[in-house]
Amino acid sequence: MKINHHLDDATLFSYAAGALPHGLALVVACHLSMCDACRARLRTPEAIGGALLESLTPEAIAEDSLDQVLLKLHDPVDEVPAAAPAKSSASATEVPQPLAEIIGDSLDEVEWKRMVPGICYYDLPCGSQGTTKLLRVAPGGTVLPHSHRGNELTLLLRGSLSDEIGRFQRGDVSDLDDQVEHQPLADGREGCICIVATDAPLRFTTLLGRLVQPLTGF
Ligand SMILES: [Zn+2]
Repeated sequence: MKINHHLDDATLFSYAAGALPHGLALVVACHLSMCDACRARLRTPEAIGGALLESLTPEAIAEDSLDQVLLKLHDPVDEVPAAAPAKSSASATEVPQPLAEIIGDSLDEVEWKRMVPGICYYDLPCGSQGTTKLLRVAPGGTVLPHSHRGNELTLLLRGSLSDEIGRFQRGDVSDLDDQVEHQPLADGREGCICIVATDAPLRFTTLLGRLVQPLTGF
């Protein structure tokens, strides 16, 4: 599996520090279980320390900040899904192990519900902050244009999706913040299945989007 889209440094740092809401942490753990490159980055204290320094203003840095972060890396993180080691290709299933613990081993046995024409969903139980869902988008199906009030992580599990950022296939993760507006489109013949987590409501940018937003749960 060739993965072209990875997690941001800031997202990896927040995950390592146990600071991500449960849903975002689940998506990170799923990507880590599929991506050797991001697992290697997570093990590099220098990268984590660099992300920390970028994220703090000078007056906010306590003398022992980095020590505290590095200590935290060795602590078990409460209630945050752990990254599983990658399975060998012979035994790998389509469902990443942290997600399989919730839905089982098959995307075809998920009890999908209809959201809007062309899009089905399955709510994942990931706490009250934000929204975490599996989405199944029919070929040519599109999510209405939106930006974000917070963070949105999308991990492709089957098929492919294109937006203003690029094309995403199995294993690719889209790691977006409130600076990005996009309209994802299932661009392949089989449509796509992905896991999406947000930590704040989306900001739909068309009238139609605002009208259907209550139906989407985002
Ligand atoms: Zn990666």
